[in-house]
Amino acid sequence: MNFFHSIKFRFTIWYLIVLGVLLILLSAGVYYGLSHSLHDNLDDSLKLRAEQLSNSKANIRDSISQGNFQEKLGEVVSLYFVSEDELIQVSAHGVEIPVDTQMIMNATKGKKAFASQKTSGGQKLRLYSVPYTIYEDSRFIPGGYRVFSEKHSGALVIGRSTENIDDALHGLRQILIFADLATLAIAGAGGIFLAKRALKPVDDIAGTAAEIEQSGDLSRRIKVDTKDELGRLASTLNNMIARLQGAFTRQQEFTGDASHELRTPLAVIEAESTLSLQKKRSSEEYKQSLEIVAQEAKHMSAIIGQLLVLARADAGNEQRLFEEVDLGELVRTVAFDAEILCREKNLKFECGQIGNLRINGNIERLRELFLNLVDNAVRYTPEGGTVTLSLERSKGKEAVVIFKDTGIGISSEEISHIFQRFYRIDKARSRAEGGSGLGLAICKHIAETHTGKIEVESESGKGSTFKVIFPMEGGRYVRSMQAQYNGLS
Ligand code: ADP
Repeated sequence: MNFFHSIKFRFTIWYLIVLGVLLILLSAGVYYGLSHSLHDNLDDSLKLRAEQLSNSKANIRDSISQGNFQEKLGEVVSLYFVSEDELIQVSAHGVEIPVDTQMIMNATKGKKAFASQKTSGGQKLRLYSVPYTIYEDSRFIPGGYRVFSEKHSGALVIGRSTENIDDALHGLRQILIFADLATLAIAGAGGIFLAKRALKPVDDIAGTAAEIEQSGDLSRRIKVDTKDELGRLASTLNNMIARLQGAFTRQQEFTGDASHELRTPLAVIEAESTLSLQKKRSSEEYKQSLEIVAQEAKHMSAIIGQLLVLARADAGNEQRLFEEVDLGELVRTVAFDAEILCREKNLKFECGQIGNLRINGNIERLRELFLNLVDNAVRYTPEGGTVTLSLERSKGKEAVVIFKDTGIGISSEEISHIFQRFYRIDKARSRAEGGSGLGLAICKHIAETHTGKIEVESESGKGSTFKVIFPMEGGRYVRSMQAQYNGLS
């Protein structure tokens, strides 16, 4: 897969975008914070200097002219005053401040202001203008006092170079840009490494799944090394593959068993009809052959009918046809049929307690389930045995239909297999009795679609008890009563 289309790439890009935005915000904050503080410091120092000079008793005008200020250290001081409508500037020799006249005029009227200017030499200056009164032609009078003959409203402008601040900020800018880019590069490489590591199990899962798909080998499993979300995903997929494998194997066995099951009666029909056609036969012989053919055709038809039921069961959605079923009434009608079957085989039929219970279900499917179990009880109970049928309420919220026989029973090893499709303990006996090995699979399916289950208790040679247990929502129990079954006359 192309790296640029991978989650790793997208994951890293998003991570870098978020990190980049955070770094830019952080760097901008640091830069503007420092810049603000340095400029504030400069302004404060200009204010302090202005105050110092304003309060000084020294003749600033002379000091300026003599270049006594710290020009070398980047400080410039200029004095302005208006004399005969002309703005006069007093500054150190060679120092020219490009000051805005409006700012000077404002200062002469008492308004202090800051400004940033560039000198003709390209040097950046921060300026502060304050009002300043200039006294001229001073002389001393007795007593040591100094008097002035003239005074002008002027402005004192103090400027300081911002070169140091600009240099510091320039350096900081470079450091921040370099640090941000380096962090992004390291984070990007780390992000790809971590994403690769974190998503390696996903690659493994995808790789194994692709191999399974290509080879069709459902016995393979994904390696599960961790207990995290990806480990859980891998185990879920493994369970799914195991279930698919099981379903696939069962389907293969089922198809094999089904074709085998249908092949036997077909072979009998083919052999019987070929044999009959080989030479002329008496009508009695033809009749016998046709009876065999009809019996085998009936057997095939029964198998196909059961296969259809199971196919419908596999397709699901049978619960759409559910309605309220009077289970007591249904079990009583099954008891009538059971008694007929028992009588045909010289068995004793006993009807136990049949409660009036109701469940939600499909009456036809339930009848099929009960008749299958009655059929088995009769089929696997030798002459003289007893078959008992009852319907009880258990644990207050379950309806239990019980089929008990005193037949051949089932060994404990076989019990777990009898619900498998086409499973028969004694194939020859079952087939001779007309069984196909699908009856209990169908029973189990019908019980499960009714959210019920079938429990079996059995002992070889002693008999079996099949209990079909249905949950009753809200206990649809009318009243428990002794069997209303009156038996057949
Ligand atoms: P079959 O059509 O062969 O009866 P089933 O699916 O109904 O198929 O039953 C599967 C197997 O379980 C039967 O072949 C039989 O050996 C055993 N079995 C079912 N019911 C009983 C029972 N009541 N007593 C003894 N064995 C039984």
